[in-house]
Amino acid sequence: MQSDSAPVSSTVEQLVETFDGFLIDAYGVLVHSDGAYPGASAFVERLDRRDVPYRVVTNDASRLPSTCAEKYRSHGIAVPDDQVVTSGSMLTPYFESHGLDGASCLCLGTSDSHDYVDQAGGRLVDADVPFDVLVMGDDAGFPFRETVDQALTHLFHRFDADDPVDLLLPNPDQFFQRSTEDYGVAIGAIAAMFESILEDRYPDRAPTFERLGKPNPTMFRHAARRVAQELPQVSNPDILMIGDQLNTDIRGAEEAGLKSALMTSSHKRWAEASRASGVTPDYLLDGLET
Ligand SMILES: [Mg+2]
Repeated sequence: MQSDSAPVSSTVEQLVETFDGFLIDAYGVLVHSDGAYPGASAFVERLDRRDVPYRVVTNDASRLPSTCAEKYRSHGIAVPDDQVVTSGSMLTPYFESHGLDGASCLCLGTSDSHDYVDQAGGRLVDADVPFDVLVMGDDAGFPFRETVDQALTHLFHRFDADDPVDLLLPNPDQFFQRSTEDYGVAIGAIAAMFESILEDRYPDRAPTFERLGKPNPTMFRHAARRVAQELPQVSNPDILMIGDQLNTDIRGAEEAGLKSALMTSSHKRWAEASRASGVTPDYLLDGLET
């Protein structure tokens, strides 16, 4: 579902007046790796003061929600632990609905990424032993070259034997913003590299990763339900997603039937990207300062 009309330039003040609740992306909206964006702390305080419920919705699968919240608080943004929804936490409903409880899992990522798999019911194994599920959690926290080569070797053995492995990608982001000026390669790009290799070797039956994080609308609906639970007096609450990425934040919000606002201060070439992707936000927000 694509918005029919051109996006409307708006301000934080206007949006808080208009909407009952918010989903807010973390990186590129509230924070970058070095700190908070101007106005981020005041925006969250304003929501709290007015009892407007919100969830921070992040594709982070390298940190638990409590670790994420602690990080935001260290940048002066007072987000409680239970107001954070991460793509890593979407592993639990996936394992439940696909009968993966007890499955042997190789998880590439940090110790928090491993905790997500453990909490979902997966049995963590090392890269040098067979596994039934490959979870690509984060680009950090493991010896990169050695681990990806071992993982790829096992995938080839299994797909050669027509005994496929489940491929899960909580965070499909291809890159991340390291600081206001610097960027880094994210695990989504490593998964895309694996898909390219598998496509090359198995052109007729190439497997792809199941992407659990944004733009998967399941994650937006999950977070929106939690916001709506705090608004029992509103029968059909209007909830707005604020993000900086068209293909994850804005596309997923649209598919989940939510209105969206794009932070143009973090995405200067958004108009060109919007034309190319066919994804149009409802609102444009040039920063969080009032
Ligand atoms: Mg972002």
